[in-house]
Amino acid sequence: MIPYGKQTITPEDIQRVADVLNSDFLTQGPWVPAFESAVAKKTGARHTVATSSATAALHLACRALDVGPGDRVWTSPITFVASANCALYCGASIDFVDIDPSTYNLSVSALATRLADAHKANRLPKVVIPVHMCGQPCDMEAIRELGQEYGFAIIEDASHAIGSDYKGQPTGNCQYSDITVFSFHPVKIITSGEGGMALTNAPDLARRMELLRSHGITREPEQMDDPPHGSWYYQQIDLGYNYRMTDLQAALGYSQLEKLDSFIARRRVLAANYSNALSDLPVSLPLEASAANSSWHLYVIRVDATRSKADRLTLFNKLREQNIGVHVHYIPVHTQPFFRAMGFDWGQFPAAEAYYQEALTLPIYPALTENQQAHVVETLRALLT
Ligand SMILES: *Cc1c(COP(=O)(O)O)cnc(C)c1O
Repeated sequence: MIPYGKQTITPEDIQRVADVLNSDFLTQGPWVPAFESAVAKKTGARHTVATSSATAALHLACRALDVGPGDRVWTSPITFVASANCALYCGASIDFVDIDPSTYNLSVSALATRLADAHKANRLPKVVIPVHMCGQPCDMEAIRELGQEYGFAIIEDASHAIGSDYKGQPTGNCQYSDITVFSFHPVKIITSGEGGMALTNAPDLARRMELLRSHGITREPEQMDDPPHGSWYYQQIDLGYNYRMTDLQAALGYSQLEKLDSFIARRRVLAANYSNALSDLPVSLPLEASAANSSWHLYVIRVDATRSKADRLTLFNKLREQNIGVHVHYIPVHTQPFFRAMGFDWGQFPAAEAYYQEALTLPIYPALTENQQAHVVETLRALLT
């Protein structure tokens, strides 16, 4: 089976992890800060907080921004459930903003309309979480302007998007957001096995996320309410978690980061190949916004059953039968039973739901060969024409 995505692990990656296994620290050693500094340098973010997953980083980001009961958080319905769950972990309510059918990202015009209505009803969100779907950055400048007008904070869910850029600046530099989150799950651009990172330019947010990452425990005397009893002393000053990344993970992440540019270059070649080779087929190809330069985590086409010979489900099944591991990203979050139980339902976000009926993720990952890609293209062509 040609999968839709796959990690690339090199002998150097393996050696780096083996070196950690032979060292004194499997966790809380030198590799976590080394990986954090390397990502800061790569993206331009001032502060970086490595975590056990992007889900944990999203939760820490919401906590650092004081999201709690009574607050509202908005995100896109076309994302992984974690982008919404982080608000619910904090006791806040979640809502969604429909997508732009061509970029698959949260629609800025829909956001503007919803904000104007919410302003009148006194129901504005505290935080908006734009998701850089497939690795394509959202229109962050416009979202930031709305944030300033309506007073909400911004967490970029850049789980797909390390290595992308927007207006010539790397995603993660937080120029238009309070916090940016990366995922290092194996299907993503670079991997640490499991892992994530929260990036910010605000020192207070970074300190808060570091504290909550490890139980809300501090060893800094100035944060304590009485003098240390001795050098063993620590105080728990908030309710935190164990969301730490291990040194094994950080060493792998560090090693993978060295290959980020070559991974992205390869993904861009593969995406361009698909866009050329599929241009005459009766499907919609992903549109890249002019200000954005995608990391191409996913290559998603839309199969319109009224235009093409096969509908999406038929195409999906036939490709799978031929060992081409296509996938669907994502089932709209608001239609999940857990969210329907909160009052959401089908019909609420029509652009997202129409997208879901048609979306098909084609294989894309650095080790995909030209031959394999040509096979995917030819199989698609035979099924569609
Ligand atoms: C993968 C993903 C997450 C969660 O990442 P983990 O590291 O697996 O917790 C969150 N948001 C989006 C958009 C994702 O694709």
